Amino acid sequence: MGMDIGSTTSKGVILQDGTSIVASSIVAAGTGTRGPQRTLESLFKQSDLKETDITRTVVTGYGRLRFDQADQQISELSCHAKGAHYIYPDVRIIIDIGGQDAKALKLDSKGQLMDFAMNDKCAAGTGRFLDAMARVLEVDVSELSKLADQSQNSVSISSTCTVFAESEVISHLSDGKKPEDIAAGVDRSISKRVSSLAKRIGIEREVTMTGGVARNSNLVRFMEKAIGGIPIKVSPYAQLMGAIGAAIYAWEQDTGKRLPEGVMITSLEEINS
Ligand code: ADP
Repeated sequence: MGMDIGSTTSKGVILQDGTSIVASSIVAAGTGTRGPQRTLESLFKQSDLKETDITRTVVTGYGRLRFDQADQQISELSCHAKGAHYIYPDVRIIIDIGGQDAKALKLDSKGQLMDFAMNDKCAAGTGRFLDAMARVLEVDVSELSKLADQSQNSVSISSTCTVFAESEVISHLSDGKKPEDIAAGVDRSISKRVSSLAKRIGIEREVTMTGGVARNSNLVRFMEKAIGGIPIKVSPYAQLMGAIGAAIYAWEQDTGKRLPEGVMITSLEEINS
């Protein structure tokens, strides 16, 4: 089992024989809430397994040290690298945007972490920024991408601080700017900030995005432009990548083997929220 206890969201997967994900869960409640427990309950319910059937559990994420049902804790950097390498062996750059931080990771051809850059000091350029802007625009964060897709003329969001950007969005709305143009401006502003992290470590092909914000396809398209027109691979498992990496670590520790690349993973229908 791989668990990823984030700042805003708890994720988990059960990996059978290193090859198939037999259960997955994403619960929008992170560390310090009942989110981790609800994630476990959902995984066991889906798979018809119980705790004693699980041979090994690795936990990652911001809240990993507070989750005591795991055999080992491993950093998010290592787990995202592990998961992304097994799903996309050619990937060299991972851009991971979660609820309260953003990271760019560089991997070598074996999936080893070579370098990284991180913003965990400021909410701008993270999921929290999107969550705040969605609230002002009165849509769910999951609807922001569709809204921004309708934009013909994105507005510029110049504030680099979430609190000021929120006031800026409110004043754009009161000036009669269209919500879709503001939503697109928000996506562009995040892609600009986070692409600078990736540029700091040097962009190389192939590139993937992980973390919950990768589910915003409008933002992914802005990110592709911001990194020089390089296409970004986004797996349907993007938000589960840390949990998948953790599960692969658990499988490898349990069996004493290294998981061969490309043997992953079951059908996409099994991914659910
Ligand atoms: P963490 O691990 O820090 O809790 P995640 O990687 O799980 O963060 O990402 C959480 C963020 O992903 C949320 O703050 C939200 O902005 C964004 N998000 C979650 N679901 C969606 C969705 N369906 N569409 C777009 N963005 C989403």
